[in-house]
Amino acid sequence: MEEILQKYYGYQNFREGQGALIDYAVEGRSALGILPTGGGKSICYQVPGIALGGLTLVISPLISLMKDQVDALTAAGIEAAYLNSQQKEAEARAIERGLIKGEYRFLYVAPERFDKNDFRYLLSRLDIRLIAFDEAHCISKWGHDFRPSYRQVVGRVMSLGAPCMAVTATATADVRKDIQSLLHISDDCVVETSIKRDNLAFKVDPTFQKDKMVRRYIKEHPDDSGIIYATTRKQVEALSEQFRDFKISHTIYHAGLPAEVRAENQTAFVNDNCSVMIATNAFGMGIDKSNVRYVIHYNLPQDLESYYQEAGRAGRDGLTSECILLYSDQDIRLQQFFIGNTQDEVIQDMKKEKLEKMVQYTKTTQCLQGTLINYFNSEEHLEPCGKCTNCLMEADYDMTTEAKKLLSCLLRMKTPVNRSVLTKVIRGESFPRHDFEHLSTFGLMKEYETKAINGFIDTLLFNGYVDEIDGRLSVHPSAKEVLLENMQIMTHYHPVDYNERVTIHTLV
Ligand code: ADP
Ligand code: ZN
Repeated sequence: MEEILQKYYGYQNFREGQGALIDYAVEGRSALGILPTGGGKSICYQVPGIALGGLTLVISPLISLMKDQVDALTAAGIEAAYLNSQQKEAEARAIERGLIKGEYRFLYVAPERFDKNDFRYLLSRLDIRLIAFDEAHCISKWGHDFRPSYRQVVGRVMSLGAPCMAVTATATADVRKDIQSLLHISDDCVVETSIKRDNLAFKVDPTFQKDKMVRRYIKEHPDDSGIIYATTRKQVEALSEQFRDFKISHTIYHAGLPAEVRAENQTAFVNDNCSVMIATNAFGMGIDKSNVRYVIHYNLPQDLESYYQEAGRAGRDGLTSECILLYSDQDIRLQQFFIGNTQDEVIQDMKKEKLEKMVQYTKTTQCLQGTLINYFNSEEHLEPCGKCTNCLMEADYDMTTEAKKLLSCLLRMKTPVNRSVLTKVIRGESFPRHDFEHLSTFGLMKEYETKAINGFIDTLLFNGYVDEIDGRLSVHPSAKEVLLENMQIMTHYHPVDYNERVTIHTLV
């Protein structure tokens, strides 16, 4: 197998997971590979395909990808062809004749092809030794991109009697089980490598000013290539119009554009003639652009599978890249509306559950990368990534002194007060209730900005030292350990560089 890898691809070693999957296929056992995007899934069925001889049938839902793959194989001296609906009839007939003569080693087909009787008859006459399912998650009802026609293919190819190789980058436990039972793949033939991508920095930003944030980001990264995903065509168009007004060079992609325009825009982006792409999720599948430095989601996607797949288009070259998720409550409502239109009740419930997980992602205080990975594989234990918003917000500032000041101020006021009263008194701002001005704690933290003080109050609330009832703050008895026993309190809010550390949350 190594010889094939070196001879046809020029690579020295197999990557993690490839070797095992290839061995299963060569032994005639069906296998499932869950490998990250860019992990080299094609080689997992191409190398055994070459080794087994005969024909390898590759089923792929992506027409755009077929041509690239066939071109690459042909360039490496391996006879390959594809059959899809966009092809001229004469061309398809010529390929079919070649197939019968055994001229090809690989045939790429779209699932829809199997609806035709004559195609199924053709297959029965060919020497098929391996059947590959690319983007195999599309077979599963539990997948985020379920394609019924793809699922139907399964029954039709199983009768061909060849082993199957299913590959995908995103499969939750349910999807994996579903693929396994459909394709009769045993547990010991499932190879799952970590889908962790160390070079990606995940950010979540609940800003109310998405437009400004995006424009500023692009201005600050003028030389970088990036994708901005929006949910609807209308939003893509609106953003594009706004960018035109601000003279930000960009291109767009969505399913409502004529095919030539889409192709042109895609090429401009892929060839680096245009560095910013604004698109719906119609853009990206099968596009191999390695230097995407950021992926910004202007809206909340429908689930974490879609999010990870789209965000994962950043940094394929291994260099540090950012994946930023902007969202608002309105986005959640839009997704709920889409889900409401789903006919099948079981699928509707499943989608609701997936959306719930997506929303939880925006709220978690845990490492974002860890949260994503655990969604797909709950057994994988991860160290905090050190790059995501939550890891960067790690509590590393000792606010014990500030805590003492705030708690004693609150105690001296003797009555529960709302946040802005406490903040004004401790900053020494003039105030209608003049009796507070005589407190020894009045103006005790005048050098701090209101925002920073609010951050400290958040931490005190979070740790339970302060109670908030009906918007009014009071000291909890446990605060004794801070005031009398010198208990240390750490926070991720910094008094000085507060603005810098949390810029992502507080854009002006
Ligand atoms: P995927 O389909 O998993 O996203 P591809 O099959 O397109 O990924 O492979 C991604 C890139 O990695 C391709 O350029 C491929 O040639 C390269 N690649 C695959 N396997 C190896 C390997 N063993 N060594 C080096 N490069 C590899
Ligand atoms: Zn992290």
